[in-house]
Amino acid sequence: MQIIKEYVLEKKERIKKQLASKDPLKMVIIQVGHVPASDRYVRNKAKDAAEVGIDCEIINIPETTTEDELLTLIDGLNCDDTVTGYLVQLPLPKGISEEKVKVAITPDKDIDGFHPLSKTVPATPLGIYNYLKDMNYEFKGKNAVVIGRSNIVGKPMAQLLLKESMNVTVLHSKTSEADKAFYLKHADLIVVATGHMHTLTSTYKLKARAIVFDVGINVGEDGKLHGDCDLDLHVKFQSPVPGGVGLLTRMSVIDNLIELGKLN
Ligand code: NDP
Repeated sequence: MQIIKEYVLEKKERIKKQLASKDPLKMVIIQVGHVPASDRYVRNKAKDAAEVGIDCEIINIPETTTEDELLTLIDGLNCDDTVTGYLVQLPLPKGISEEKVKVAITPDKDIDGFHPLSKTVPATPLGIYNYLKDMNYEFKGKNAVVIGRSNIVGKPMAQLLLKESMNVTVLHSKTSEADKAFYLKHADLIVVATGHMHTLTSTYKLKARAIVFDVGINVGEDGKLHGDCDLDLHVKFQSPVPGGVGLLTRMSVIDNLIELGKLN
């Protein structure tokens, strides 16, 4: 497996060349208020877009914006032919329903892939999947364990792996310790997305050739970012946090925009 940071740099170069000869694409990011982590995510997404030659506009609206006002803005973007795709940065302030917002974004322009009828796949599982494809990973018949069953990570991840004919097991907070140990012992590919540090520790017996993707982003007591997995797992490959799945997710935002550009 290639170091993710290097892979992303190479991929950006590839995309930049590919887009240079095409009609320009436009991405819009709506940010409501200012959550420090969201500020960083929005900045990074805009930077990635600029680096590959995509025009990116950030629409920053105040924390006091009402749900109706946001939905009106979304309606406008749905009808704006100059916009290839857009996303609304989550989380949203209290009083605005994320579920309503997710379904208000037309599937034709849904970069995040959160709409039930979206033409794109949520960026995090897609990023892991595309990386594995680019690494020529042989999925067929191997055992995958996905820990976490959210609609934006766990479930779409399991679907993508199933599509590649893996034997997929999805674990969650109601899975017993004994079952977790059993499934992990047989896993070739493990994706952990629980939002809890130490979900995967060296106490579990893992295959030495197992590959682990750590999706979690947690702020530890040391004030630093940590994943959901411990660092002493003794596996063939483990994605770092930071500098791992987050970078792959950012690439998929671009991939999804390009995909929408082809479809629309
Ligand atoms: P959710 O909180 O929506 O889902 C967490 C899932 O983990 C749930 O299905 C839950 O089970 C399960 N779970 C929680 N604790 C355990 C446990 N101890 N053992 C097994 N399963 C458990 O989170 P998300 O999927 O949205 O995100 C997960 C993590 O990934 C978060 O840290 C988030 O910040 C990070 N993230 C990172 C991204 C990136 O770009 N790197 C992008 C998206 C998310 P149950 O359903 O039973 O409650």
